[in-house]
Amino acid sequence: RGRPKVDLLAGLNPAQREAVLHAGSPVLVVAGAGSGKTRVLTRRIAYLVGERKVHPGSILAITFTNKAAAEMRHRVADLIGGRAKLMWISTFHSACVRILRSDINRFGLSRTFSIYDDADSKRLMQLVLNDLGLDPKKYPTRALLSWVSNQKNELIDHETAASLATSEQDRNNAAAYAEYQRRLAAANALDFDDIIMTTVHLLQAFPELREQYRRRFRHVLVDEYQDTNHAQYVLIRELCSTELSDAAGHAGETERDGELGRDSEHDVEPPELMVVGDSDQSIYAFRGATIRNILDFESDFPGARTILLEQNYRSTQTILNAANAVIVQNENRKPKRLWSEAGDGPLITGYVADSEHDEAQFVAREIDKLRDEKQLTYGDVAVFYRTNAQSRAFEEVFIRVGMPYKVVGGVRFYERREIRDAIAYLRAIANRADDVSLRRILNVPKRGIGDKAEGAVADLAARERISFGDALRRVDEIDGLATRSARLLTDFAAFMDAHEAMVTNGVPADQILLSVLEKSGYLAELSGSEDPQDETRLENLQELIGVAREFVAEATPVAPGDFELTAEDLAGLTAEELAELALLTGVDPQTGELATAATMPAASDPGESASEGSDPDGEPEDGSLSLAAGAPEPDPSLGAFLERVALVADSDQIPDTNESAGVVTLMTLHTAKGLEFDTVFLTGLEDAVFPHQRSLQAVGDEDRAESSSRVAAYGRAGGAGSKRRDSKELEEERRLAYVGITRAQQRLYLTRAVVRTVWGTPQHNPPSRFLNEIPERLIDWRRLQSATTSWRNTSATSRSQTTWRARPGAGSYGGSGGADGGSPAFGSGRRTAKEVPVLAAGDKVLHTRFGLGKVIATSGSVEDPRADVDFGSHGIKRLAVRHAPIEKL
Ligand code: ATP
Ligand code: MG
Repeated sequence: RGRPKVDLLAGLNPAQREAVLHAGSPVLVVAGAGSGKTRVLTRRIAYLVGERKVHPGSILAITFTNKAAAEMRHRVADLIGGRAKLMWISTFHSACVRILRSDINRFGLSRTFSIYDDADSKRLMQLVLNDLGLDPKKYPTRALLSWVSNQKNELIDHETAASLATSEQDRNNAAAYAEYQRRLAAANALDFDDIIMTTVHLLQAFPELREQYRRRFRHVLVDEYQDTNHAQYVLIRELCSTELSDAAGHAGETERDGELGRDSEHDVEPPELMVVGDSDQSIYAFRGATIRNILDFESDFPGARTILLEQNYRSTQTILNAANAVIVQNENRKPKRLWSEAGDGPLITGYVADSEHDEAQFVAREIDKLRDEKQLTYGDVAVFYRTNAQSRAFEEVFIRVGMPYKVVGGVRFYERREIRDAIAYLRAIANRADDVSLRRILNVPKRGIGDKAEGAVADLAARERISFGDALRRVDEIDGLATRSARLLTDFAAFMDAHEAMVTNGVPADQILLSVLEKSGYLAELSGSEDPQDETRLENLQELIGVAREFVAEATPVAPGDFELTAEDLAGLTAEELAELALLTGVDPQTGELATAATMPAASDPGESASEGSDPDGEPEDGSLSLAAGAPEPDPSLGAFLERVALVADSDQIPDTNESAGVVTLMTLHTAKGLEFDTVFLTGLEDAVFPHQRSLQAVGDEDRAESSSRVAAYGRAGGAGSKRRDSKELEEERRLAYVGITRAQQRLYLTRAVVRTVWGTPQHNPPSRFLNEIPERLIDWRRLQSATTSWRNTSATSRSQTTWRARPGAGSYGGSGGADGGSPAFGSGRRTAKEVPVLAAGDKVLHTRFGLGKVIATSGSVEDPRADVDFGSHGIKRLAVRHAPIEKL
């Protein structure tokens, strides 16, 4: 049509181009942070569809979060239109859930299974431990769950675990594992790790099924490959390994392939595989991830080609130098160096805060300044910390100064009580076998169904070997049940029946949710309450309804043409953004038309029109694989919504780029992976905070002594002679530091607090060893010393002076009064006088652990004020005001 062809290779360096173009053998792209690995992956998908005319339905791309998946899909959708919906771009978990929804019945399980999250699993395991009579001191729930998780990540089922057990502990663990699995199956549920393991077992047990998926997915692409665990690796191998291709060749299936428009001449060839990763960014070893998967790629996939990228396009050279200086301290790594053409940029800013409050205030002040002086938006800024609990101090200050922010992860939305109640309702409605969910809400809000009535139903269920939900519908069979109880149970069953009918009739998820919350009386109870926390709960539920609405709107089928960008869409973009968009999408900025979509054959896409398979009850009983069922079709049903909710990863709460203009993002370092921000605050750089206490405990005795001493000098003090091996855990912490530093594009801030209050106890931690690993010349210390120096800090500082390896400026750490003047010394860890809130009855306070509370009475002395505070569900607490981590509101 005379329109210039889009160059999908433009804006790629030669190595990136090679990775996009490579065809045939498996390919591994290994490269440091910000070198364009994700860009290569996205471009390759676009290139496959746009240039190699690969059918979108035969592409499987795995990202680390659902958010990343959505972003990638969006970019490709811009290029090829609604057909992008035919691609599987998702996390490992989402992809596996889809395989299981279509094929788990081969294992005799129902396709309408529930997915248990961490809290569900924990409750289930507690029941198991109770039943087995295991001593909770010897077998803590958490430890046992993580043991089970490790087994599953290694694809060890409970029978195998039992046969491998050599100690009593192992035998008991395996017994708990077996019972836990039995109960999951009875509830028709899978936990998170089951999702991957069951999929692998399914593909291994049914070779013809595996062949079908191998034929379907002609291209498999995996981002963040360094964080795959063994089970995920085996899954990829099942789908892509050459060794298995001999088993291919079931006649009859080939024709089906042809119908779907995939290159049927290739169907005996293994799919093309591309994985990208960076072993320096492996931060999930504690969850079973192993960089062996990267290191062994070439031997696992013979004929594989490895492509290295070295140029970083994200960060300034100063930031890269800092990142490199930290990561070279790890011994177990392949040396590599990143370089950038972005120039040196500003120095890194360092700040030593008195306390975590002071640290947060500094961050807030700086963000304001950057907005004024550098025209940054809030959305350009991210604040990272090691553990979720650290978000609290930032939130307090940001709320006070009115700075808009969003905590990613943190107090996880989906873990809040009211949200879990609402989800439990929905699950019990979607899956009648889900006893745990049903019993959770049986009497929530209180409807007079007591333990006795519940017990009677449970007895009937046990006697008849039916689910609790089925027993609830048969209360007339229970002898000796009080008439009132029987009526209450019957009413409740009718309520559930009515909502089950809504599911059957295809009522969208948001309407079912709203109906449940209203008709159950849940909303009414909260709105009638005086408890301020209940108001927050109402808001949270409103947010959940909003989430459901958004989900339904998104999942409603798109009309062809919805993906075309209009000139209006393009208005308001900068010239640079326009150019990038044109490059990436093939949109002619003059007309807003899609160049490439027009060149795509308008062939009918079987998957696009297919809508069978969305009906949960319509499973074909012959167990045949309907390839169309695997194609993603818009599905606003309750089941689909619950699936989305169950799979929300922390990073999925990151605001969309265009919405985020007004929000500072707070998140843990783990959730920051893969992202980039103009300005990054890396906070809490103290030994025992980051690196985490656990990683220090794992080091040798000598180190333990050192780290347990709260006033210890710099961790690596002692000079070259004492260099020792770091623990595996410490090396993982260091990779986490590398991830954090390399998120920054222009500006990086490093902060630490001299005193940090943890669980109400003030702690003095020495500076993080990672700070010491960054060359002094890269950091401009805004403040080197706490303003409120206590005797302990002073002694720490002078110790650090004597052991400090000689470097310029180190002397300024020394004790003679802070450079900022500063207030007189206070007792160690106490709040300074100005920080102690003066409380009176009726005041509202925010406690880091107990949340919002109301002061009922005060007592004590001026020196040592006390307050009795009502924290609602946490009860009334008497607090030593000077020490309590509270904020007056
Ligand atoms: P990470 O290891 O942190 O996941 P990555 O290797 O995946 O990083 P990307 O996120 O793909 O890196 O790219 C980092 C930044 O550099 C992005 O903003 C990307 O758009 C940009 N970029 C990548 N390659 C190029 C290139 N050849 N020219 C210009 N910019 C590029
Ligand atoms: Mg990436």
